Amino acid sequence: MPVEGLDMWRVLKGAGIKYVNFIIADIYGRPRVDVMSIDMAKDAFIDGVPYDASSIPVYSTVNKSDFVAMPDPSAVYIEAWNGGKTAYVFTNTLEGDKPSHLDPRNILQKTLDIANRRGYQFKIGIELEYFIVSGNPPKLVDQAGYFDVPPPQTRKVVEEIMDSFAAAGLGDTKTHHEVAPSQFEVNIPYGNPVKVADSVLIYKIMARSVAAKHGYTVTFMPKPFWGMNGSGAHTHVSVWRDGRNLMASVKEPTPELRYAVGGLLENAISISALVAPTVNSYKRLVPHHEAPTRVVWGLGNRSAMVRIPYYAGKINRIEYRHPDPSMNPYLGFAAIMLAILRGLEERIEPPPPVSEVAYELEGVKETPRHLGEAVKYFAESKIASELPSEVVKAYVRLKEAEWQSYVEKHPWEKTWNTITD
Ligand code: GLU
Ligand code: MG
Ligand code: MG
Repeated sequence: MPVEGLDMWRVLKGAGIKYVNFIIADIYGRPRVDVMSIDMAKDAFIDGVPYDASSIPVYSTVNKSDFVAMPDPSAVYIEAWNGGKTAYVFTNTLEGDKPSHLDPRNILQKTLDIANRRGYQFKIGIELEYFIVSGNPPKLVDQAGYFDVPPPQTRKVVEEIMDSFAAAGLGDTKTHHEVAPSQFEVNIPYGNPVKVADSVLIYKIMARSVAAKHGYTVTFMPKPFWGMNGSGAHTHVSVWRDGRNLMASVKEPTPELRYAVGGLLENAISISALVAPTVNSYKRLVPHHEAPTRVVWGLGNRSAMVRIPYYAGKINRIEYRHPDPSMNPYLGFAAIMLAILRGLEERIEPPPPVSEVAYELEGVKETPRHLGEAVKYFAESKIASELPSEVVKAYVRLKEAEWQSYVEKHPWEKTWNTITD
């Protein structure tokens, strides 16, 4: 039975929670938070959180900016890493008494409902990669590499993040040292896409907070350091019908898996601006760093954009390697699902899988070279036409502005870097 708001409030009060941080996810996938004392929060659990949206893009018209965010009592997480006195509660913004089409969390939920009506359920899992750094400008704090024994400088931080994740109610995770020094990966448990997207937001809040206690910072920037691996957010997807995984097979991919890959590859360039949404994202999508540069797929091929995990000949999901941690997981997952749904419904056959190293393969589609290019593809795409037009317009405007400000002048271009000096 779903938990009612007031019941959830009683549980939190009984558990000694003092503050409730109501999260409104914005168009970037960043949490915006209204903090209430537990007693003040009681009414909010019944009637919603009234908030001024005028400084939040998309909602932002000063003459019409009073919104209400309804708490989702099934999405409550305790801030165990700071003494457990604060709860984070996700909300859905309303328009009248209906979910607002401007809220990315609602957009993802609506996409799931569309898929459900067509007889498909989606499960998503995500790997988040990140660096633990210190100082400004950021410096690496350990010199370890892939699958190394956790080094003393970073081990405590990583273990405390894992403990906090479980204590917050988000489940068990596994983690390992990544290829670059000071770089880690965490695997967020797979399941309902809205819950997994919520987990990404909580994970980032928590990892930053835990690292700060140790005098460090974490960065989810896609390519923080030149010449070494960047950080991806590989997204694993399986499609189900009536409790059966349509992608489960032995040795040969199922037709549904092939169509899903077909839809994803056909629309990958269009959704690049959503899954790789920052100027810096495109610094990651370069050859020889285990990030994709070509729109191809392969069984067990980590240089391809879509890898089919292929352990002991068993197949059960696809791994989309294009996204990075700067993605808004709500919009990114929605776009991925829309691309896969197209593949399934139009029975899009993908080109043959690639077994060679794909970074510099000729005669195949390439990832956009930069954010400016990606935004153009997105604005004109079929996927954009399936998303709420105000959100698409606002997103395109914001991303074009980001690209433009980078093109005009960037702090990197110090005069001593130029040959005209
Ligand atoms: N760090 C790589 C990326 O940017 C991925 C490495 C891996 O396969 O785990 O996507
Ligand atoms: Mg990894
Ligand atoms: Mg991976």
